[in-house]
Amino acid sequence: MESKIIDGKAISAKLREGITEETARFKERFGRNPCLAVILLGEDPASSIYVRMKGKACEAAGIGSVQHTLEAETGQERLLDLIDSLNEDGTVDGILVQLPLPPHIDEGLVLERVAPHKDVDGFHPVNVGKLMIGHETFYPCTPHGIVKMLEHEEVEIKGKRAVIIGRSNIVGKPLALLLLRKHATVTICHSRTVDLPAVAREGDILVAAIGRAQMVGRDMVKEGAVVIDVGVNRLPDGKVVGDVLFDEVAPLVSKITPVPGGVGPMTITMLLANTLQAARLNEK
Ligand code: NDP
Repeated sequence: MESKIIDGKAISAKLREGITEETARFKERFGRNPCLAVILLGEDPASSIYVRMKGKACEAAGIGSVQHTLEAETGQERLLDLIDSLNEDGTVDGILVQLPLPPHIDEGLVLERVAPHKDVDGFHPVNVGKLMIGHETFYPCTPHGIVKMLEHEEVEIKGKRAVIIGRSNIVGKPLALLLLRKHATVTICHSRTVDLPAVAREGDILVAAIGRAQMVGRDMVKEGAVVIDVGVNRLPDGKVVGDVLFDEVAPLVSKITPVPGGVGPMTITMLLANTLQAARLNEK
């Protein structure tokens, strides 16, 4: 049972070692550390925790990070001005605007304002378009981390049926494109999918990116499938669980990610990788 659990923390630790070494080489060559600017609006507790975790991960990997914390009421123009100045700042390689943004801010406009070559989240329409047509670009961190995990576990992707539940711009859709690029046959499901369990059971690789606690039970999983649980849900008792009913599903499958300790650490790891990539671009 132990061996079937995909240990995202351990895989991340290994990848971060490599990133730390490459960062040191970057510093040797260019005389500076890569640098990530993070913008946080307001004090949403979850967002603040994520931003802190990202800052710590950068520090551990030798990547500089500068946090810009603005009040929740900050006007859109001020936020856009800050992004403009970071776009112009040659010492900043990557820019990340922590989502979600308060309702008075137009998220699309903000994400479009980040210069595509500093868009380490991979959310700018130019980078989304590049991903779509198969050009090299910054891949969004969570889907990129999932593909890295599958590769690390030597899961065959080519020719396999991949079923993704969830069609968000940050997880479901970009993951579908990345898996397609690896020659999977991909199905994306959502809240209007008819007979979701039957579709989900077709997946040799099943990814749950729904945001509904423990929704995926044994009726939705093919025996021997590889199950990736992206969901992060807090139960009333404070416990954090995924979208998959782990205890019920784990005995049926060949591999499965836990929550916490699965996809989550990989997301931050890929942010570090993207920041290093942005720094190299900046030096070209
Ligand atoms: P969104 O809310 O943007 O998207 C959820 C998707 O799930 C939508 O496409 C929605 O369908 C679909 N959905 C909702 N209910 C059902 C249902 N009953 N049946 C089928 N499909 C359904 O979420 P995100 O993609 O942003 O995140 C998904 C989860 O992953 C969340 O728990 C989030 O916290 C977590 N997450 C974790 C990360 C990590 O690093 N570990 C990173 C990012 C997200 P429709 O489009 O029809 O509404």
